[in-house]
Amino acid sequence: MKTPETIHSGTISEQLASYKRRSRLSLFVTSVFAGLIALGVFYCSLIATSQPITAEQYSEVNDAIELLESKGFEREAFLLRHTAEFRRSDNWFNAAVLKADSYAATNFPFQIVTLYPDFYSKTTDRVERAMVLLHEAKHLESKDENAAYSYVWRNRERLGWTQLSHGTTLTYVTISEQTRENAPELFTCRDHLWNDCTEPMK
Ligand SMILES: [Zn+2]
Repeated sequence: MKTPETIHSGTISEQLASYKRRSRLSLFVTSVFAGLIALGVFYCSLIATSQPITAEQYSEVNDAIELLESKGFEREAFLLRHTAEFRRSDNWFNAAVLKADSYAATNFPFQIVTLYPDFYSKTTDRVERAMVLLHEAKHLESKDENAAYSYVWRNRERLGWTQLSHGTTLTYVTISEQTRENAPELFTCRDHLWNDCTEPMK
């Protein structure tokens, strides 16, 4: 049987424990809330310091996304269509850091895709624009450069962007060189044409 003191001291320690739990919970909620506000402010600053794509540019982007969808890249098409915000000029953050390539850049996890003039002018058709968007879709999934270059190179046949169809275009030559730099493991097969492990011709 508990003495009054025990009951009394038990009540105080329970109150103390409950207070500590509440203050830990309150600290957690406040931190999460502050974190979300900070992310929101950062996102708004990225949007405010860049310009949206024009209606004409949007039509080309949409056309390329439709091509991706028709070639079976539904997941990537979904991400590009429903989570990405397309911009045509650099936000302050992109302007402050080196760009990975000149066609496009993606800010993950803010899902902001900046499409530079080369995206429209250096690509020869919708297939090449779809290829660039496929690369950016991998960044929307949080994948790094190695994974993005590797995925596009491995899937170029399915996309319809091959040596045979586009091998002489500036974009094909450029991306092919960048893929060799960013995903060198794909070019280690000495018995394949150009040491390219994804190349069916030997
Ligand atoms: Zn990239």
